[in-house]
Amino acid sequence: MIITAAIALNLAKSLVLKNTAPVSPSVITTTTTTTTETLTSTTEPKTKKEKKGPKPAPEQGSTDVHIPYVTLSDCHACPTPCPEENHPHYPSYLKIDQETPLLDSMRPYTRHVLISTGKDDWEAHIDDDKDSLAPYLQKAIEEGQARLKEENGGRDLPRIVLTNSSKHGDSWEGEGWQVVILPDQIVVNNVTKDQCHDFFEAFLRPPVGSVAATVEAEHETESKALEVAKEELNGQLEKTNGHVQDDEKSESNSSVTVNATQNGSKTTVVTTTTTTTTRKVSSSGSTISSSSSTTAVDSPSSKGTFHHSTTDQVRTVKAGNTTFTAHRWLPRAAIMICSHRKRDKRCGVTAPILQKEFKRILRAKDIYGDCEGDVEIWLVSHIGGHKFAGNVIVHKQEGMAVWYGRVDPCHCEAIVESTIERGEVLKELYRGSMVDSFDLSRKKIAW
Ligand SMILES: [Zn+2]
Repeated sequence: MIITAAIALNLAKSLVLKNTAPVSPSVITTTTTTTTETLTSTTEPKTKKEKKGPKPAPEQGSTDVHIPYVTLSDCHACPTPCPEENHPHYPSYLKIDQETPLLDSMRPYTRHVLISTGKDDWEAHIDDDKDSLAPYLQKAIEEGQARLKEENGGRDLPRIVLTNSSKHGDSWEGEGWQVVILPDQIVVNNVTKDQCHDFFEAFLRPPVGSVAATVEAEHETESKALEVAKEELNGQLEKTNGHVQDDEKSESNSSVTVNATQNGSKTTVVTTTTTTTTRKVSSSGSTISSSSSTTAVDSPSSKGTFHHSTTDQVRTVKAGNTTFTAHRWLPRAAIMICSHRKRDKRCGVTAPILQKEFKRILRAKDIYGDCEGDVEIWLVSHIGGHKFAGNVIVHKQEGMAVWYGRVDPCHCEAIVESTIERGEVLKELYRGSMVDSFDLSRKKIAW
């Protein structure tokens, strides 16, 4: 895929100084708005059975959410079951629940945090695996949410979904893990077990879209934070250059805005670094679909992806004793497929079949990858509802995350074309969505 440059458009916007506003009860209240009530009301009468399903959201809010439904027949998808022998199918022994209504079969949530493990299966309960980051981050989230709840007068807080993912963080030389935060579009490299509480304070305490660059007031700290950001950037450039071809050119520039707030002795620093990489693919392989250039699009690792950013924005966020460096997540969308075989075989069997089919479709459209405008495929750990395998979440960059169940390979093309390309929701497969997925005016992405 040709990487076009010119990301600098967003630069000016990103330089706007932000304070790290402490969470206030009113902010939390607005983010707990859910679509549960509205979703139920849009169900067709014949499928509107009594639902035991998920608990109601802590608070009901906006009721005028419009879900842009289309049907599988609108998308010319195969009938279920598909009669075509040459289409990919699941083995017949798999018992998939075809009866229970899918709608509202997931609980409302406002954030999805994914740990890059480079694997496609995990211990049955990811927080049992003490060698991984998951139990430590899960504990930090639970404790952080409990503190927030107390500060918030005991009111329940929006759920944060934590999963492992197959994304392969191969972009740094640290002992920690790469963590992705959506819908904030933030990628943090090298998060270690002992940093999880700081991670919560830095990235999960602030409401969605309000994670701002922060550094304590001392000038020394400021300089150090900037150095960290620049060092990391330089490291990326070296790595990036290692991946690319001769006729590729990279430029980078950093802009820093420093401003003292009147609020105590804090200083807020916004660091935005833009690296522009231009690659010409035409010299050796003339088409992107040739085998040589396909190799260039894929990552060096079979499960991994390209370095998360060749065009990048970087932000330094400090909490407790930790200075984190946050990168902007660039792709247009991620297709997450539950592949948690050790938890339930059904997702373990369906996931690789779906992955292959999604990959084929995205490659045919030349949008598979993890660069700006691409679509990534991540295998993820348990998200709930194995009986509805294949379980798929489509997360779009602008903050829309749609959950689908009973996904067959013959639905993949419709999902890509309707949901990713046109922002539509396939009614027959729809389980629910991230809060505010269809009211993006309420959701401010961090960058
Ligand atoms: Zn088919």
